[in-house]
Amino acid sequence: MPRPISAVIHLQNFTHNLSIVRQHVGQAKIWSVMKADAYGHSIQRVWHALAASDGFAILDLDEAILLREQGWQGPILLLEGFFQPDDLQLIDQYQLTTALHSHWQLDALENATVNSAIPVYVKLNSGMNRLGFRPEEYAAVLHRLSAINNVASVTLMTHFANSDTLTGTDKPHQIIKSFIDESLPVCIANSGATLWHPDTHYDWVRSGVILYGASPSGCWQDIADKDLRATMTLQSQIIATHDIAKGESIGYGSKFTATHPMKIATVACGYADGYPRHAPTGTPTWLNGMRCPILGAISMDMLTIDISDCPEAKIGDRVELWGKNLPIDDVAQAAGTIGYELMCALAKRVPVKYEN
Ligand SMILES: *Cc1c(COP(=O)(O)O)cnc(C)c1O
Repeated sequence: MPRPISAVIHLQNFTHNLSIVRQHVGQAKIWSVMKADAYGHSIQRVWHALAASDGFAILDLDEAILLREQGWQGPILLLEGFFQPDDLQLIDQYQLTTALHSHWQLDALENATVNSAIPVYVKLNSGMNRLGFRPEEYAAVLHRLSAINNVASVTLMTHFANSDTLTGTDKPHQIIKSFIDESLPVCIANSGATLWHPDTHYDWVRSGVILYGASPSGCWQDIADKDLRATMTLQSQIIATHDIAKGESIGYGSKFTATHPMKIATVACGYADGYPRHAPTGTPTWLNGMRCPILGAISMDMLTIDISDCPEAKIGDRVELWGKNLPIDDVAQAAGTIGYELMCALAKRVPVKYEN
């Protein structure tokens, strides 16, 4: 018997979540964001379930080439553009769309010899200060691009730092608005803006985490009314149970000490599986229809839960760490992180099943 831990990827929930996004954006086209190997789910295994997307947005040329070799013929967007001038040869060969955020990329594009002109997304730095041209140089960049023969089309692009708040898109949206006219398409909305700022949808949205059923704000309550469904369940089993007395401690560092007699269970899941080591006492797990809190420190291969309210629980019972019954956001929030990080961090040693 292998160690009883596995992840299940729910392919039909991708298709469902994409249809929810479609309802939100109306006529706008959807880039399904699949960077980081589809947020830890495997591009190769899940892209078919998202084949009704208008395009796929990724980071690495390798990911783009994989998608082409898998048979995807639609648009592919490189969200951070290319990392060296030579990459333009592959962008040309595989017919990719590239973001542009720096002057050296304009130079490279101008100097490249390509078979067909390349569609570009020109990134405006609207306040996040990560990538993009500053507002005061943006018009000149657009002007310069209009004269480069290697450019097939130009789309305006920016990225929001605070799309999960009520007014978070106001200022950056205002900044890019001064460049928006009828002549060029616009793509600025990430998941938060897809859900909560319909005025930012324009021609294309770039939706990521909501396709995976998690909240852009990190708080599941914020998407509770959206009918988005989990795409990843992490599950394991109880491998030991104990009755402990008042005053006894649990795990490394004896971080939890019982103040009354308790029934506890050891679960075969630890930080080497991608479970967050910083998850404190009280972080929820799901057992037999109940939430059972974690007690003490997370070990490399195991964690401990309180089953005092679940006295019939026994060795071999299934424990869900996150997924269909327990939103990944609730676990992430308890551990001081976001669902995005937990998905991406699923460890290689966890066997993954893909289920329709
Ligand atoms: C990751 C990313 C997105 C998607 O973000 P979500 O919050 O997952 O929707 C969109 N645009 C860019 C540029 C990104 O890097």
